[in-house]
Amino acid sequence: MSYAGPEFEPSSRRRSPMRRALIVALGVLVPGAVLGWVVYQGAPGGSDGADRAPAGTATSAGDGKEPSASAKPYSAAPLKGKVVVIDPGHNPENFRHTAEINRKVDIGTNRKECDTTGTSTNSGYTEARFTLDVAHRLRALLQRQGATVKLTQDGDRPYGPCVDERARIGNAAHADAVVSVHADGSGAGNRGFHVILPAAVREGDADTRAIAKPSRDLGELIATDFAHSTGTEPSNYVGDGSGLVTRRDLGGLNLSTVPKVFIECGNMRDTKDAALLTSGAWRQKAAQGISEGIVSFLRG
Ligand code: ZN
Repeated sequence: MSYAGPEFEPSSRRRSPMRRALIVALGVLVPGAVLGWVVYQGAPGGSDGADRAPAGTATSAGDGKEPSASAKPYSAAPLKGKVVVIDPGHNPENFRHTAEINRKVDIGTNRKECDTTGTSTNSGYTEARFTLDVAHRLRALLQRQGATVKLTQDGDRPYGPCVDERARIGNAAHADAVVSVHADGSGAGNRGFHVILPAAVREGDADTRAIAKPSRDLGELIATDFAHSTGTEPSNYVGDGSGLVTRRDLGGLNLSTVPKVFIECGNMRDTKDAALLTSGAWRQKAAQGISEGIVSFLRG
């Protein structure tokens, strides 16, 4: 407690009862407000797996960031004019629409299911809930930086979208960066995150030659910042420890004409990773890491 207001100063004059009451009230209210803010910032969404996003987390000037001696000139909205599309993998209602999501769509290199249900932890926390929650947190962080943010789905449609449509949403938005958020469903003991990059593909409707390099740049920055923010290691089962994997079999990447990566934030089927993925505090760190990677990419 470092409060050292007038009521603790030696005073040679008497204060009125009204003034004393006001000072006491302020002494109670101000620390309470500060504590409330700290608690809110520290544990948005809680750790119960609930899909409570920190909606409306715009804190005006209250995020504590001040102009400092950095290489970049300070800007309150460094991503102003930039468009970021967040693609929350799967859809919480996909499992009710198996016929629709099993329909094959053209992804350039071949035909593939429209969408899939995604995985879940052993205790039943679904990947689709995870991806939406991280997407909401990420959206709030990017909007705070001034970006225009669009989600490919927000639990607001019965299923999907299909993977080809997910790619087209980013293309139509002329997105400066697109991130598809996922968590993996691998074997127990397989741990860690990995970022999936598009291979340079030219086949059918797929032509990723122009986006392969910027997508790699985006993916490398996200991988670095995600590891730093979450304190987790790159995957121990794919990517040879780099946290990066290049693929040519994902429609969401093959059909993209704008820089795009996927991130598998962890393995839902491993109990240690699942403990992280089901923690709201950890998901906030995950969103923070992804956001920082995007900001680095877009500021150049
Ligand atoms: Zn997935």
